[in-house]
Amino acid sequence: MKNYRHSCRIHLTVCAAQIVTDIDNTILNSEPRLRRTLQELGLEELLPELLARYDGVKALLKPEEQEKFYQLFLSERYLHLDEPLPGAAEALRALREAGYRIVYLTGRHDAPGDSMRRGTELWLVEHGFPHPGDGSTLLRMKPRRGMDDRQFKEEALRELAKLGSLHAGIGDRPSDIEAYLHYGIPAILIRGDDRHPGDGVRAVAGGVEVVRDWSELEALLLRSG
Ligand SMILES: [Mg+2]
Repeated sequence: MKNYRHSCRIHLTVCAAQIVTDIDNTILNSEPRLRRTLQELGLEELLPELLARYDGVKALLKPEEQEKFYQLFLSERYLHLDEPLPGAAEALRALREAGYRIVYLTGRHDAPGDSMRRGTELWLVEHGFPHPGDGSTLLRMKPRRGMDDRQFKEEALRELAKLGSLHAGIGDRPSDIEAYLHYGIPAILIRGDDRHPGDGVRAVAGGVEVVRDWSELEALLLRSG
């Protein structure tokens, strides 16, 4: 793994080194929002299997159920149920204070008349995370709900690379990791509670750092070298 120390710690005013992180199930646990959404659709019995696989919605819900599911789950209605992961806000604030620009790169969408931006920003503020209103933090969201996450993230990373070096990319899904590695960005997979012990994670684990939680991640990014 490359040495994560960076001259950013010395040249704070001119450095634009960036740390990119996913949001859902990376800085927060969206299970309560998932549970509430399924309750509303009368599909709560699917919760364990949806938590156990990345492709659960497409595999387990009928097409008409999928549309209703996404309209609820990917809306601002239940965002307040999302629970911050322990240590995530503190770690990201410490990285920001060390001079890094924090960039949230999320599959949440921000389309005219159908946007999760305001709810996401409010949640970040309420839970003590660096947020776009603090002057240096960025929130990059999909321009429309149906766009492919991986494609969006790769396009966004290409644009972010023009703003400064991309120091590390953090995510919970193999598709996050693949997008980071596509641009040679050191990638960190956060495993959380190991609820996705699938082959996809093992397939990418060889090229990335795998951490259990944000205290391990903070140590890796701030105290290594
Ligand atoms: Mg995620």
